Amino acid sequence: MRTDTGFSFSDIVAKANDAVIVAKAGKGKSGKPKISYVNAAFCRLSGYSEEEAIGKAPWFLDGPDTDPEARAKVEDAVKAGRHMRTRLEQYAKDGTSYWVDVNIMPLFDGDGEISHIAAIQRDVTEDVRREQELLNLATTDDLTGAKNRRHFMERAELEVHRLRRHGVPFSVVLLDLDHFKQVNDTHGHQAGDDVLKEAVRRWQHGRRPFDTLGRLGGEEFAILLPGADADAAMTVAERLRTTIADTPFDTVAGPIDVTVSIGVAEAEDADQTIEGTLGRADAALYHSKHSGRNRATKASPIPIGKPKAAGQKG
Ligand code: GH3
Ligand code: MG
Ligand code: MG
Repeated sequence: MRTDTGFSFSDIVAKANDAVIVAKAGKGKSGKPKISYVNAAFCRLSGYSEEEAIGKAPWFLDGPDTDPEARAKVEDAVKAGRHMRTRLEQYAKDGTSYWVDVNIMPLFDGDGEISHIAAIQRDVTEDVRREQELLNLATTDDLTGAKNRRHFMERAELEVHRLRRHGVPFSVVLLDLDHFKQVNDTHGHQAGDDVLKEAVRRWQHGRRPFDTLGRLGGEEFAILLPGADADAAMTVAERLRTTIADTPFDTVAGPIDVTVSIGVAEAEDADQTIEGTLGRADAALYHSKHSGRNRATKASPIPIGKPKAAGQKG
């Protein structure tokens, strides 16, 4: 390798557009790396001065939404002396988050020991935000902001997989607004749209972040509840029902009383597919409709083995 270049590499690094951070490797098992160099681009991107950054651990820019898995992969690569590249969400001094595409490389001393870790970070915040926006558009129902059917089904398939592989339970709650055709016929389509939007707004309120609310069709919705058994799902369903029935809906046509009928099913191995679970929830919903509406019904579990006809032997 030619080293007699006649120019200074450190000048290039200092003036580069990409952020550059170098940390001195920690000595021994419990030794932590400490930042020993940052360039001007790093200071511009993070809002921290050189003095503020130097001496800190390289992960001091992590924050609430930094993916712990991505961070763990970086740590593993550093420990193993491997080069690695990933995307990380980082937090600037003023609390705003930004995304970097980061290239991490260990630097070795003459004895082959890791002496430093260098990271080159490119700001990809705009790319990531655009990707998130597109993904959001592709998975969301325009009118209500609930997830669309396709996305809901994809999320549900993942839960089927988790149930099969790891035995993690989940339930689905099917929701169908009562006499919705009458709302349209009496108050107009715009008032109907207002009701759909307001119902979703009420259901989204207080939803756990990992529960998915989807619009499966016209005035039919479903909530996917990972980790919930049938009883837990029934408690949720009751809350979803009362949040609709208890307070009239404000619409362009004035206040309207709305109710919803609900079917609840916990997924079972015997369902085979998500359609099986949704089918049982649908049967429970049908029962709610035919026993007076404005109620939630729990689907019957699938009997173990085939029921025997009376008088049948063995
Ligand atoms: P039930 O209590 O048995 O569920 O009766 P329902 O009237 O709610 O059920 P039905 O399936 O007969 O009618 C659903 C209505 O929902 C018919 C359709 O015009 C209306 N609808 C579907 N999508 C939309 C929408 O996006 N906006 C509005 N305003 N109405 C919609
Ligand atoms: Mg309906
Ligand atoms: Mg319907």
